[in-house]
Amino acid sequence: MNYNKKTVKDVDVKGKKVLLRCDFNVPQDKVTGAITDDKRIRAALPTIQYLLDNGASVIACSHLGKPEASFDKWVKKQTEKGKDPASLTEEKWKKSLDALRMEPVAERLSQLLGREVILAADVVGPDAKAKAAALQPGQVMLLQNTRFEKGETKNDPDLAKAMADMAELYVSDAFGSVHRAHASTAGVAAYLPAVSGFLIAKELEIMGGALASPKRPLVAILGGSKVSSKIGVINNLLDIADTIIIGGGMAYTFARAQGGSVGKSLLEADWLDYCNDMLKKAAEKGVKFLLPVDNLCAAEFSADAQPVLHGAMDIPEDMMGMDIGPKTVAAYTEAVKDAGTVIWNGPMGVFEFPAFAEGTRAVASALAETDAITIIGGGDSAAAVAQLGYADKMTHISTGGGASLEFLEGKELPGVACLLDA
Ligand code: ADP
Ligand code: MG
Repeated sequence: MNYNKKTVKDVDVKGKKVLLRCDFNVPQDKVTGAITDDKRIRAALPTIQYLLDNGASVIACSHLGKPEASFDKWVKKQTEKGKDPASLTEEKWKKSLDALRMEPVAERLSQLLGREVILAADVVGPDAKAKAAALQPGQVMLLQNTRFEKGETKNDPDLAKAMADMAELYVSDAFGSVHRAHASTAGVAAYLPAVSGFLIAKELEIMGGALASPKRPLVAILGGSKVSSKIGVINNLLDIADTIIIGGGMAYTFARAQGGSVGKSLLEADWLDYCNDMLKKAAEKGVKFLLPVDNLCAAEFSADAQPVLHGAMDIPEDMMGMDIGPKTVAAYTEAVKDAGTVIWNGPMGVFEFPAFAEGTRAVASALAETDAITIIGGGDSAAAVAQLGYADKMTHISTGGGASLEFLEGKELPGVACLLDA
């Protein structure tokens, strides 16, 4: 995967209408629809401001939530959720769409930019087209929720072309969506010159840089809940990293594979062979592979459970591992001290429970203190680092959950691959 892509700074934007794919998928209050966290809108401001300052006009677009663009599919989904099909009317479906209109986003964006944001009533319908045609340099408009169009998630070329036809340049800045080949995240690039905004540029520079030519030694810390959800990440990083550190729920499948007793801990019995293969591969490649030596355990999965320390290979039958123990913390802290780059994905324990957050906190603290480039990928990992108060101590916290995982897997990301090479 080539991470070296053109950015807004590499093209002339003056006088151009720019279709800008943002990530405005903000959390909203279920009842009032009020935006409960506008971080993502704020994050888009530098690129929007740059475009405006340099004489462009901006046609911003984003998806918001998961609207169901077809009535039949909506009925099917609701029925699967246990709703009585007789109660599912077309009005209710339309109401579900109304709850995901872009009005609150347009309003907040306008406040933050300190200028008018022209909101279109549709995505590529007559209103959007007319407003786009009338748009003047320095003006900002916002399309309706891209997922109101059936063709969006199918990457329908007609929809992509209709979106592209409104503009002269495509700028992608929705990193959280680059792993999806949708019309607005990738399809449009077939019809317009396509470059990245500042958010994606930073992800590519720092995460891409760490994968393509890391400052060594490269230490990868992998945790989280399941081995099975991290196979791609382990496979890819085993080829790149000098040291791999394992924590979190996935450690118990490794411990079991090595003949340990893991009690009631998270265990994926189908992946025991895989774990042993990985350990063998690491040994062959000379990659250091560190597993926990001790664990804080609990009798039940609960915030008030009493933490008890056990060796990683002998967790009693009635206990489950909830966090890494102090000896493990010491070893892991030591391993990141002289690192050139640390990539961290997946908490070391059930950090949501304070009694089992210490392993994750200690690793975050070690990362905060090292001189290494420190990169956090993964939704829960980013949340953990923020919750524990170390967010501003990291070199980079990736803004995409699923997207950063696929990035670490070394997968081709459609929303990045479609951009012009630098
Ligand atoms: P990310 O979103 O950063 O990729 P994951 O989704 O893989 O991370 O994992 C996060 C979850 O893993 C957290 O909710 C955490 O509670 C859970 N977890 C960590 N350690 C354990 C453990 N020992 N047992 C059960 N769950 C765990
Ligand atoms: Mg997660």
